[in-house]
Amino acid sequence: MNRRIVNIIDAVETSDGDGVKIFRSIGSYSLPQLDPFLLLDELKSDEAKDYIGGFPPHPHRGFETVTYMLEGQMRHKDSAGNEGVIGAGDIQWMTAGSGIIHSEMPEQEDGRLWGFQLWINLPAEQKMRAPRYQEIASVNIPSVNNIEGKGRVRVLAGKVESVIGPVKDIATQPLLLDVRLKQNEKYSLSIPSEHTAVVYVYKGSLIINNDVLMAQQLAYLSLGESIELSAKCDGASILVLAAAPLNEPVIRRGPFVMNTQEELQRAFSDYREGTLVK
Ligand code: MN
Repeated sequence: MNRRIVNIIDAVETSDGDGVKIFRSIGSYSLPQLDPFLLLDELKSDEAKDYIGGFPPHPHRGFETVTYMLEGQMRHKDSAGNEGVIGAGDIQWMTAGSGIIHSEMPEQEDGRLWGFQLWINLPAEQKMRAPRYQEIASVNIPSVNNIEGKGRVRVLAGKVESVIGPVKDIATQPLLLDVRLKQNEKYSLSIPSEHTAVVYVYKGSLIINNDVLMAQQLAYLSLGESIELSAKCDGASILVLAAAPLNEPVIRRGPFVMNTQEELQRAFSDYREGTLVK
């Protein structure tokens, strides 16, 4: 059965880090989370003042942060010794686990910066695991052509047909796709029927079962085996996210996402005492 839209969320303009302008859909007041997704931000601006402050050093514990760039460059540096600059089409997947301190700063002083940050939860038994960093260059991200041979589907994580994305060994078995459709093009995709699934349009507009989705709107989909995306006349560029829900309590504040209040307090006190990073 094809999934249908349960709810449409408009991304809300807000700021995070040192005054970086973002458009937040998951993690906003109207959609605090969608198990196991905790946050989805789109960063998009042509003005340096909207991004130049970046995200100076800050901690995380208990989940994973994913950065995917469309235009511009960001430099990542963390307390585990990882450092890298990611640019257009590159992805960075950081498993914070028991604790990491990182900075994410624009590697440019003008021009457009455009990308996404996604937070995915970790199951209780992996929240205190060792941190891990995966960085994949655009050239190493495989694509599958749409059946009509016009559009393109970039497989960042998960599997489409026989194509397997480069980000591996993630507890929630995420599917993360960047789907680019030409005008009036259709694309259907199967997804494990119990997985949480959302689509986020970042360019153009899309139709799912007669409902129209515009740029900077996110749709939360019903359960089901497949989704059918249909681009409107202007084409559409879409992130498709799906993953197994954890069905565990989520206790979060700021940069920490744990299962109990006690664990959350511990994260804050470890950070204060300088023992967050093992
Ligand atoms: Mn961060």
